[in-house]
Amino acid sequence: MHIESMKDKTKGKKIIPLKAPHLLHVPLPELFGNKPEPVVETGKRVKKYQVIGQAKEGFPAKVHSPVSGIVKKIGNILQADGKDGLCITIENDYQEEIDETQEKELVPEEYTSEELLRIVKDAGIVGEGGARFPTAVKYDVADQEIKTFFVNSAECEPYLTADYIIMKEKTAEFFEGIYLANLILKAKEVVIGIERQNKELEDIFAPFFKQEKYKDYKLEIVPDEYPQGGQLQLIDTIKGIKIPDDASSADYGYIMSNTGTVYAIYEAVVKHKPLIERIVTVSGEESDNYGNYRIKIGTPVGHILDTIEYTKKDPMIIMGGPMMGKYIYDLDTPIHKGAGGVLMLKKENIERLSCIGCGYCVDVCPMYLIPMKYEEHYRKKKYHKLKKYSIDDCIDCGSCEYICPCNVPLMESIFKGKSKLKELENEAG
Ligand code: SF4
Ligand code: SF4
Repeated sequence: MHIESMKDKTKGKKIIPLKAPHLLHVPLPELFGNKPEPVVETGKRVKKYQVIGQAKEGFPAKVHSPVSGIVKKIGNILQADGKDGLCITIENDYQEEIDETQEKELVPEEYTSEELLRIVKDAGIVGEGGARFPTAVKYDVADQEIKTFFVNSAECEPYLTADYIIMKEKTAEFFEGIYLANLILKAKEVVIGIERQNKELEDIFAPFFKQEKYKDYKLEIVPDEYPQGGQLQLIDTIKGIKIPDDASSADYGYIMSNTGTVYAIYEAVVKHKPLIERIVTVSGEESDNYGNYRIKIGTPVGHILDTIEYTKKDPMIIMGGPMMGKYIYDLDTPIHKGAGGVLMLKKENIERLSCIGCGYCVDVCPMYLIPMKYEEHYRKKKYHKLKKYSIDDCIDCGSCEYICPCNVPLMESIFKGKSKLKELENEAG
């Protein structure tokens, strides 16, 4: 599906570090029912880079303090999905005092793949494309042969240029990050996938492809289609292979990471820096201070608006892209490791009509699902039918609702339907 990119607003904007806030709410996100536990106490001082949250067996990833300061609170803060999430609130003392213990641990004597994997794990690196799956768990492939390491640089959500600007401005770091990642994976082939709208990167990459280290890397230019950046969609476009929804791409010998993730690997290995900040695009039709900012994890959205001197009243704020991003209900909601954008969009009074059975939602669904069935069965409380129509295979891309001429609330039914099914499954044990 083709949608207007709206990326010209920020493609030419250099990365600017956003001034760190006075208070940060660093999330300890739950993943598949597992949670990192706080390993600091309220009232105690923490140093920058210090581990403040970790889970048993490294899942989810470790969480580090982005600043030095005092732990003011450990408790729930409203997250971008509108649900409470555990956060460690740190009062920044602006001393930038670094935790030397962590730093020493992160200096590799030599880059064996085991050591690199440990660095990736210790640095709390996750998939920055949104899923926030721990990269060390994904890369721990043991003796499995990896055919292709895909670098997913198809940033298909409108407005977002966080990945683009890394590739344009931090090209050497980006390539080195790919190289380090592949020292772990030992994939036979490395493929970087970019969208046609970013074709100018080909010239920027050209000198790097001539270097001995990177000479076998391949660049694939994929169509400007949404959701081209989905893992299964990118593999299908580049390799012409449809991986079944219930299979893992690793089982097929494919591993994929996004641009921000390989950049974070570079920073962890070469700069000895855990994942405490990320590049975020601030944009949207209601924004007038567009840009690509380096923002610390835990920074409240309200601080971003204050810093860019945002004055318009009552915009709709989204964290992520307009298709898959989540509404911000509270300005204390913090930036998390998977947040590529903060968008200010026009509030629209959407008129929701009944489904007319046109089938457009079915035509655009990249997972070959029947989206209108989710709205119907959720509304009628026939939750078992959601399962029957494979709601678990839905990748939440939002294409169905975007195309729907009647504005049927498909995404609300999908999100709430998935959550209801999970609840029922938990109850059933
Ligand atoms: S696109 Fe909208 S109106 Fe058309 S079938 Fe799907 S839900 Fe119904
Ligand atoms: S949100 Fe889900 S159902 Fe809708 S188009 Fe995307 S994958 Fe299909």
